Amino acid sequence: MRIGAIEAGGTKFVCGIGNERGEIEDVISFPTDRPEVTLGKVISYFKDKQVEAIGIGSFGPIDLTPESPTYGYVTTTPKPGWGNYDFLGTLRREFPVPYGWDTDVNAAAFGEATWGAAKGLDSCLYYTVGTGVGIGVYSEGRLVHGLVHPEGGHVLTRRHPDDDFAGICPYHGDCLEGMAAGPAIEARWKMKGHELPPHHPAWEIEAFYIAQSITGAILLNSPKRVILGGGVMQQSQLFPLIRNSVKTNLNGYVSAGEILDHMDEYIVPPGLGQQAGLCGALALGLSALKDQAL
Ligand code: ADP
Ligand code: ZN
Repeated sequence: MRIGAIEAGGTKFVCGIGNERGEIEDVISFPTDRPEVTLGKVISYFKDKQVEAIGIGSFGPIDLTPESPTYGYVTTTPKPGWGNYDFLGTLRREFPVPYGWDTDVNAAAFGEATWGAAKGLDSCLYYTVGTGVGIGVYSEGRLVHGLVHPEGGHVLTRRHPDDDFAGICPYHGDCLEGMAAGPAIEARWKMKGHELPPHHPAWEIEAFYIAQSITGAILLNSPKRVILGGGVMQQSQLFPLIRNSVKTNLNGYVSAGEILDHMDEYIVPPGLGQQAGLCGALALGLSALKDQAL
């Protein structure tokens, strides 16, 4: 089986070919340019690949409502040329195959639930903490959509007592992304995340905001696993800080063994590592092919 996978990020695109076992057989990557240029490269990559379906995990916001006239569009992004752009339709005209289409983080959550750290579970959350913060939501065996799609990275935060940083989200200031994404760390400490030493107070503050979000998400969605990916989470010292902070926040209220006794296996890095996004797109493509066969 040959399934096309597209991880469409705001800074780079990754395209690949994979199979039903979640194995990626070929990958290319290029910077995200204007849509005509970028999708031109995508189309020439898939041209001779004879894929049976294509899955796309895209940066957003995107339209996920099948009945909507703008289904498959990237909607309100300030990224030049991409606002109100018919991403899915452009590919569909070129390759008439079944398509899976979802947000980049929902795709990663789905990939992790299919082959990675949440394999066998019917719910999980996938966080990416990188240039932005996004949260993919998989619940009761399906990806959560709604009016639009969850935008958990923009939930407002309660401030850390030692933090007077105003936050840099252009919409909300001190939402989670405005306080905890890579650019927020850099703006607060005047140093890039990877330059800060592992015992710097930055990490305790970072863990505080991520843990605050996870605490809320546990109370709202009751996910069976929480997966944390993205560049900032390369700082592995964050994991124990976050687990402890979530435990302190919940204070024994949620009586699940996963939280009370097995936090190390509950809040975890991606099982698929750097390939969570691409494997997620692959899983979306596979699922679209199966749906069509029904
Ligand atoms: P993107 O979100 O664009 O897909 P990344 O997940 O790599 O890409 O996120 C990039 C952000 O993560 C940047 O702000 C960068 O400073 C930060 N970052 C990348 N690697 C590290 C690291 N090892 N430690 C801390 N921060 C990092
Ligand atoms: Zn925001």
